Order: sequence, then C-alpha cells, then structure tokens
Amino acid sequence: MTSQQQLLEQAESYLRAEVAPKAEAIDRDMLALYQALLGLGDRALLALKVTHNSSSSQETIAHRFKEMVARYSGALAFLQTQHQSASAMLASSKNRGLKQEYLDRLATGDRLLGIAFSQLRRSGEPMVKAWPVNGGYQIDGQVPWVTGFGIFEEFILGAQLPDGRAVYGIVPFSESYQEGDRASNSSWKLGRILFTPPMSLAAMQSSQTVSAQLESWFLTQDRIVVIRPPGWIHEQDQKNVLNASFFALGCTRAALDIIEAAIHQKQLTFIRQAFEIFDRELRQCRSAIFKAIDKRESSELNAWYTQALELRAWAIELANRCAHAAVTVSSGAANSNHHAAGRVYREALVFTVSGQTTAVMEQTLQRLTRSRYYR
Ligand SMILES: Cc1cc2nc3c(=O)[nH]c(=O)nc-3n(C[C@H](O)[C@H](O)[C@H](O)COP(=O)(O)OP(=O)(O)OC[C@H]3O[C@@H](n4cnc5c(N)ncnc54)[C@H](O)[C@@H]3O)c2cc1C
Repeated sequence: MTSQQQLLEQAESYLRAEVAPKAEAIDRDMLALYQALLGLGDRALLALKVTHNSSSSQETIAHRFKEMVARYSGALAFLQTQHQSASAMLASSKNRGLKQEYLDRLATGDRLLGIAFSQLRRSGEPMVKAWPVNGGYQIDGQVPWVTGFGIFEEFILGAQLPDGRAVYGIVPFSESYQEGDRASNSSWKLGRILFTPPMSLAAMQSSQTVSAQLESWFLTQDRIVVIRPPGWIHEQDQKNVLNASFFALGCTRAALDIIEAAIHQKQLTFIRQAFEIFDRELRQCRSAIFKAIDKRESSELNAWYTQALELRAWAIELANRCAHAAVTVSSGAANSNHHAAGRVYREALVFTVSGQTTAVMEQTLQRLTRSRYYR
C-alpha cells in the first residue's frame, strides 16, 4: 500500500468513527467543529500540500481528501480547506521567516490559518486596498467573507495595490488595534481590524463566518506571504476551476449514503434503482474530472477550461439532485433540524456557490436550464 493510500485510509477511519456520528452537531456547534478539526490535526492531516512533496501526488491527495471529508461533514470539509489553502500558499512563499515560523506547525493544527481572497474576484472598485508605505503596506477596506472566527488565530488577506497587483499577508483574526508612534509618518492613523458577529447561515453555522473591516492597518514586510501580478486570481480560477468540484462529489456521496440506508429501511425497489443510477453517474463524473485534471498541463488553457467548466457544473448539479433524492427518500423526517438529509441538502447549497465566479454561475444555470421536456 502506498503512503498516500495509507494516509487516506487513516483519515477515513477517523472520519467514519469520530466525525460521521456527530455530523449534525458539527454543522451547528463551533466547539464540535473545532474538535473535529483538531482530530485531523492529531493525525497531521491539515497541510497535505506541505507534507506531500511531489506536485501531482499533492494535487490528487488533496482532491481525494477534500471529497472524503465532505462525505462525512460539509462544515469540516469547508473549514479545513481554508487552512489547507493558506498552508499551500505559505509553502510556496519566498518569505523564509514566515515559513520558519509556520510550516512545521500547520499539519498538526498547532497554528491555524484562514483565508480571505474572494473579494479580489469582484469587479469594480476593489473592496480591500493596499498602499505601499515605509516598511510594508497600509490596508483599508471591507472583507465580505472570512470563515473560522474563534477557530483560526490569523488569516491570509488579499488586498489590491494601485497598480492592479495583489498583496497577500497574514493579519490577526480577532479585533486588533495597532499602537506605537509612527514617528516617521505623522499623518499615520492607528490601525485596526474589526469583525462582525458570526453570520446567521442556512448551512454550516458552526463555520463562524464573519465580515471584517480594516482601517489603516499596517501590514509589515515580514508578514507578507506573496505579491501576485494583476489578474492572477482570475487565471487561478480558470486553472483550478475543478478544485471545488470535490466538495460537490463528497456531498453527492453523503446523499447516496442516506439513500443507501433507506434501501435497507424501506425495502422499496425503486429506491435501489435510483441509488444505482446515481452511484453510476457519480463514478462517471468523478472519473471525467480526474481525467480532465490529468490533461490540464498538456492542453491549451481556453479549450480545456471550457470543458472543465461543464464538469464543474455537472458536479454541482449532481450534488443538488442527489441531495434532493436523499430528502425524497427520507420523507417528512428530512425537515427535522437533526436529520442528515436536511443537512446534506443545505450543504449542497454552500457547495453550489463556493469559489463561484461569473463563469461558474453562468455554466451552472446553463446546466440547470437544459431542456427537459416532458415526454
Ligand atoms: C458561508 C461562506 C463562507 C465563506 N468563507 C470564505 C472565506 O473564508 N474566504 C474567502 O475568501 N471566501 C469565502 N467565501 C466566499 C465564497 O467563496 C464566495 O461565495 C464566492 O467566491 C462567490 O462570491 P460572493 O458570494 O461574494 O459573490 P459575488 O462575488 O458577489 O458574485 C460572484 C460572481 O459574480 C460576479 N458579479 C457579482 N455581482 C456582479 C455584477 N453586479 N455585475 C457583474 N458581475 C457580478 C462577481 O464578479 C463574481 O465573479 C465564503 C462564502 C460563504 C457562502
């Protein structure tokens, strides 16, 4: 057995034994979610792109792991992905001081980091701006989404520079004020970072998602992870368009688990038939996605991206169809606040919009409006 398989088996036995039975609590209760995250840390599973050194195996393992966690708990999959993304970004940083401070401590969750970049995707006036100043950057603006308040100690923030580049740096994830005299710059105001209370969410309430406000925050040179050229995030969104599909695949699997359990409880042939159809489609969709990822480097990006977008939309639609089927086979009980089918249905909502771009939105709608005339 390869070390990759071993790692995934170890992860799965933890998820089955410790996470699956508490999935409803993990969806609602921050402490239950935090404990589940620490359980991944105890197994050194929280920085797969740092601990696995070949880039193709890093990518495959990260995808398979993401799908697996999403099968057992959407909230845990979502939360741990923020930290894994931050870890991967730090691993590729040229800032040696930061790497020394963090890298060895990320896999175990000894240091926990969130991310806040989605604002860089929005067009128009940048929501978070950075200006070069002596010794670093001044940051001002409104961050629409940061997950993990009270769980992550810090997060990597993306802010746009006047020339269109984006600076990514580590900032505290708790209300913070900067003090000290900035004698060299008399016009400097004291910096601060403020957070809203956690949002009231339909799914993954435990994820402690908040908005943040930064005023005159001084991001010192030593906290900078990387500076990216203009348009970098949009290029990444194209190259990585399939990454978020693994959430949807895991959510589909979670729904199929509910349908499979109903086969045994209800002894109705049509439930088995539906399960078999969906199960086959899930395998086809996953296999097409892995094949597309394998071909990415050798393909022309635009042509590849057009096909990959279709696969992303397929995965999103499949997750929603299967979640709906899980509700259907669970009958009225699905509407209980404590039923797995209701949770998975709400998770499908989150995985429909995670990392959404205009192109993903358009493709999802195209898939959903494909003509299905009654025959
Ligand atoms: C519970 C939750 C937690 C999240 N946590 C995080 C997190 O920790 N870190 C993080 O970085 N992100 C986080 N996100 C953001 C998430 O990935 C976003 O949902 C996703 O990026 C889409 O962004 P948005 O919802 O802000 O939509 P928008 O950015 O408003 O819209 C999506 C797309 O539509 C386009 N669009 C919007 N309005 C217009 C318009 N008027 N004209 C033309 N085009 C338009 C945008 O350019 C964008 O490409 C979280 C989201 C949720 C729901």
